[in-house]
Amino acid sequence: MGVIGYPVTHTASPVMHQAAYEYLGCDYAYVPLEVHPSQLKQALDGLRALSFIGANVTIPYKEQVVPFLDELDEQAQKIGAVNTILNQNGRLIGYNTDGPGFAYALETEGQFTITDKHVVLLGAGGAAKGIAFQCLKAKSLCIVNRSLEKAQALARNLPMSGPIQTLSSDVDLEAVLSRADLVINTTSLGMSPQEAMSPLNAYEGISSQTLCCDIIYKPAQTLFLKEAKVKGARTLGGAGMLAGQGVLAFHLFTGLQVPYTVMRGVL
Ligand code: NAP
Repeated sequence: MGVIGYPVTHTASPVMHQAAYEYLGCDYAYVPLEVHPSQLKQALDGLRALSFIGANVTIPYKEQVVPFLDELDEQAQKIGAVNTILNQNGRLIGYNTDGPGFAYALETEGQFTITDKHVVLLGAGGAAKGIAFQCLKAKSLCIVNRSLEKAQALARNLPMSGPIQTLSSDVDLEAVLSRADLVINTTSLGMSPQEAMSPLNAYEGISSQTLCCDIIYKPAQTLFLKEAKVKGARTLGGAGMLAGQGVLAFHLFTGLQVPYTVMRGVL
């Protein structure tokens, strides 16, 4: 197994999967696979040719791999992005475990369920799409993004039961933030090495009533989380989501269950 990305030097997935093999006594290997953008199709054909069990997919290929796969599971089809590919006798099947992994970490580590809550989603990229589909039972959802049209396109595809709003990230967000139970940063702002960047221009509205989550896991404490803490908010970093999606991908690859704490523990 492996993880396809460009670059992949940042990935923590090999360490996590290796920990799972050691815990369960499995004879597998998991390697980083750096694939140049001009070679994506060849790399996916290579998974078949080399009888890989499967591969995870990271930045920037989660959407780009879709046309080269033989089948998508229902969730990946709705989201339009894939983070896990299973090789079933030469047929490549795409799944997306990012959203369920996020929801699992939110419940396990944040003791928080999204149902009937007011949620603000910062960002509308690949990871945001998966997480947005976990927010369908929220009381309300507000998607904030630099490119408003991307937030609007994401909102159009969401079969939300409650109201959904889209805003550009340069407007005053105080009213929206003060109503929010949960604020999730899914943008790459604040990710190492650009640690001085923040997805919010101002933190007014965030309070001790807010849970602020960042899905960035390097650094563990982003500027977004540090500023939210100053306002009294509870905070949660991105390592839990990484472990959550990893546990689900591991199950797809092997049919085996590894405890969440095994993958989470090495991060
Ligand atoms: P992506 O598809 O490239 O989306 C990036 C998002 O960030 C978009 O909303 C983009 O806005 C916004 N953005 C980027 N640069 C910006 C800037 N200078 N100013 C304002 N907004 C900016 O990336 P992704 O795959 O969703 O990943 C996003 C982050 O999530 C990364 O840091 C990644 O490491 C992390 N992630 C973590 C996990 C985990 O398991 N913890 C899983 C997946 C991803 P526009 O739409 O306007 O470009």
